[in-house]
Amino acid sequence: MPVEPINPPPRLLMGPGPVDADPRVLRSMAAPLIGQYDPAMTAYMDETSALYRDVFRTTNDATLLVDGTSRAGIEAALVSLLEPGDRVLVPVLGRFGHLLREIAERCGADVHVIETDWGTVFEPQQILAEVDRVRPKVLAMVQGDTSTTMCQPLEGIGAVCRERDVLTYVDVTASLGGNTFAMDDLQLDVATAGLQKCLGGPSGSAPITLSPAAVEVVTARKHTEAGIRDAGEVDHGERIRSNYFDLAMILDYWGPRRLNHHTEATSMLYAARECARLLVTEGMDAAVERHRLHGEAMTAGVRGLGLEVFGDVAHKMNNVVAVEIPDGIDGDAARTAMLTDFGIEIGTSFGPLHGRVWRIGTMGYNARTDAVLTTLAALEQVLRAGGVAVPPAGGVAAAKEVYA
Ligand SMILES: *Cc1c(COP(=O)(O)O)cnc(C)c1O
Repeated sequence: MPVEPINPPPRLLMGPGPVDADPRVLRSMAAPLIGQYDPAMTAYMDETSALYRDVFRTTNDATLLVDGTSRAGIEAALVSLLEPGDRVLVPVLGRFGHLLREIAERCGADVHVIETDWGTVFEPQQILAEVDRVRPKVLAMVQGDTSTTMCQPLEGIGAVCRERDVLTYVDVTASLGGNTFAMDDLQLDVATAGLQKCLGGPSGSAPITLSPAAVEVVTARKHTEAGIRDAGEVDHGERIRSNYFDLAMILDYWGPRRLNHHTEATSMLYAARECARLLVTEGMDAAVERHRLHGEAMTAGVRGLGLEVFGDVAHKMNNVVAVEIPDGIDGDAARTAMLTDFGIEIGTSFGPLHGRVWRIGTMGYNARTDAVLTTLAALEQVLRAGGVAVPPAGGVAAAKEVYA
């Protein structure tokens, strides 16, 4: 049987990520490949580092890409920082906090967790009190957890952790570009992201930035591979328990030494560079404001359809809203109708929220007026067909008021 060429159905991806990649990012990925040490390639790598310094708002030299999806960045950060037995504190506000905990456990760390109810955030003071009690080597947090839509306030945490010699790691995959984040102002040590949320690219590359203090901890564990080390080069410290995610070696690949590690995923580097170029050209504040506007319009729109918004809305991320599935409608059947009748994908939810809420994103390339209005117009039809009493045009009208 002949296999047809790939020809995906047209979709508007309005879930919590992935979202439609910006066409300019997709076009960048079709550019020809070049060799790893071609001066054009190493120049692209340097430009990518510089662009992501602007995206993360940092002067950190050590700003680069980990090849793989967002969790590749998380694993690289945690496995490179944490030695077996090291204490780590993880405040958990949703699914991705649990992921940090589980990755830290796999690193053999002594993991301490505090939890807050899904749909709420921690007071920074709560986290700092726990830092003082646990005295961890690393505080590992999520800024925006798409599973609950909450955005954890980070103000004040980094500065106190630096006074206590505690390194901070933050997963900003879902929040970066759509919510205010400033690595250096917040005095954080390591942050990682992905492309498929507010950065408007495909999944598969994980931008990361490390403060000089974090670089020191990582490079103190350097064990360069036998086949590429310099004569006389000696090993340091406890060897990082992953080769692929060994940031000490990856830093040597991205740094002036250009020491071979993996083969940089060239097409993904093109994509990551274009994502950052587009954001920096727009301006980071303007990008956050765009996400705020379209997120507010979507939130007003779902309320205009008579739906309840889940969670502590004051701490909601700009780029995703969770709506309670109304009584009497089958949540999964409604999502299927959105997809098959309108080509629009909205998100289901995990764990304690499964079957209770849908998650609707407005992020990256899809943080746009037409995407918001089209989604609301379609949702109105699906709700009505499912037997829910909806105010005619209530969603579109409420969103338009936000845009007025
Ligand atoms: C979406 C998301 C991820 C995704 O990880 P992938 O490996 O790219 O699937 C990670 N962390 C957070 C906080 C997210 O919202």
